[in-house]
Amino acid sequence: MSRIAYVNGRYLPHRQACVHIEDRGFQFADGVYEVIAVRSGGFVDEAPHLKRLHRSLGELTIAPPMSDAALKAVMRETVRRNRVVDGILYIQITRGAAPRDFPFPPGVRPSLIMTARAQRPLDPKILERGATVITVPDIRWARPDIKSVALLPNALGKQRAKEAGAYEAWQVDHDGNVTEGTSSNAWIVTAKNEIVTHPADHGILNGVTRLGVLQVAHEAGLVLVERPFSVAEAKAAGEAFLTSTTNFVVPIVRIDEATVGEGRPGEIVRRLRALYSDFALKGVVR
Ligand code: PMP
Repeated sequence: MSRIAYVNGRYLPHRQACVHIEDRGFQFADGVYEVIAVRSGGFVDEAPHLKRLHRSLGELTIAPPMSDAALKAVMRETVRRNRVVDGILYIQITRGAAPRDFPFPPGVRPSLIMTARAQRPLDPKILERGATVITVPDIRWARPDIKSVALLPNALGKQRAKEAGAYEAWQVDHDGNVTEGTSSNAWIVTAKNEIVTHPADHGILNGVTRLGVLQVAHEAGLVLVERPFSVAEAKAAGEAFLTSTTNFVVPIVRIDEATVGEGRPGEIVRRLRALYSDFALKGVVR
């Protein structure tokens, strides 16, 4: 089946779907995006993704290209035209196309594109055995809380992980603390069974999955602490895991050369994955 992309008001065959060379997304990474999981043809966590999209746009003072009602209609049509049942929807909004100049061009219309594709479920082996991460310096700009398309440091980190045979790279700030993965949030479980993740300040992207996991963990009466943790603390933790839209909750059993806990997925991570998966699937909207 040929894929269809939405580009500025038109549904086009994927191969013909183009934006202008002077689009500010291409020239300056002057744009934002969202990735939303599709399950059984519906959206997981749609409301918080749209809320975060608006926050990112607001932080960059990019005007929403259309109303939320219209955006939701295009989201559904993009998924429908691509016949995606289980997969992802990608939304990108840039400031628009204008002759290349740093200041914001007056009166420019934002660009909106969407794509959707099926995605195979996570390899069950990763869940059974746990995944590995490497650590890399966090070399990003000071506002990774904005979901901008400026993802070069993330791509470099993920490539290093791939070359090392690891699943993800955890980024480490100047103080030696883990901020987050290149496309996921980072968590540990301490010896006291505290579930620890970096606070949602300007230093990380406040993951929608992160918020869902915080909610289900709180409802289950688990102890949550939002504070930075060091690489050394992570390596000595009882359990570790990552969260993201495409992964939900994935156990981490190795950080660089260090084995986490007993080197297999722990009880709390398993429980959180089950709780979050349940929560996510119940919240699917069509
Ligand atoms: N951090 C970064 C840097 C990411 O790119 C992502 C995935 N978009 C996440 C965290 C996880 O966010 P979410 O749970 O909303 O997918």
